Amino acid sequence: VAAEITVSPLPAMLDGGAMIVLQDRTADEQAEQMRRDFVANVSHELRTPLTAMTGFIETLRGPARDDAAARDRFLDIMEREAGRMNRLIQDLLSLSRVQSEERRRPSTLLDLPLLLRGVVATMAPQAEAAGLRIETEGLEERQRLPGDPDQLVQVFQNLIENAIKYGASGGLVRVGMRRIDHEPLLRGPGWAVHVEDRGEGIDEMHLPRLTERFYRVDTHRSRAQGGTGLGLAIVKHIVNRHRGRLKIESRKGQGSRFTVILPETLSRG
Ligand code: ADP
Repeated sequence: VAAEITVSPLPAMLDGGAMIVLQDRTADEQAEQMRRDFVANVSHELRTPLTAMTGFIETLRGPARDDAAARDRFLDIMEREAGRMNRLIQDLLSLSRVQSEERRRPSTLLDLPLLLRGVVATMAPQAEAAGLRIETEGLEERQRLPGDPDQLVQVFQNLIENAIKYGASGGLVRVGMRRIDHEPLLRGPGWAVHVEDRGEGIDEMHLPRLTERFYRVDTHRSRAQGGTGLGLAIVKHIVNRHRGRLKIESRKGQGSRFTVILPETLSRG
């Protein structure tokens, strides 16, 4: 329960002082506020591309009607904006599905290095197009652990995609995994998978909030890269479902390392 402190001026007859009203904000009220903020954010995120598209439709009907070059350019922009809305809706659906499954433990045994090699292969063309090389380490041997394959693919796709988007200047992304005999955060053995880039890095003050829905360090930059601001929130919920941990380390101007620590068995905690 958080306390909200309101300092209000006293009525005129008690002039010269201030009164402190201590009010309890229940967890329910906080949850309700978060829900309202989320709806406001979603509406804003959807309205931005929609406003742009409406504007271009008007221009195409009016001033640009007979200008073929302008028409092509505007149609390209409208296609991009529609793509943005589509990505946002996909991510919202993913997030909602992941949240609703969060309490159900995954039961499949999967080969994690194989899964990671598959994700790296899928992302390689995108990395190459951004002028990056993806280097892997520790993904040669089979290692079985419990997990939801589709969701873990999504986790590592999101992390590698971010490393490509925000790490392009570093030229190199490293993806690897290693065993941890005793991980204090998990109270047992586990596997740590890291995705590391040498890009722009993240200022320390942002790190604690990075997995919040729609939290971005630079909204303009994220949008320009096609980001929805939901990628890391999705990652966080999937990792929670696997009883794992997400560790974020970064230094401004030097790069970032995102580590997903997964327990070897799901019998604990
Ligand atoms: P987005 O769709 O904006 O990329 P994410 O939830 O995936 O949303 O990430 C949230 C924010 O965290 C990003 O907008 C970006 O500012 C920051 N971020 C994520 N990954 C990295 C990275 N590898 N390097 C620098 N900044 C990053």
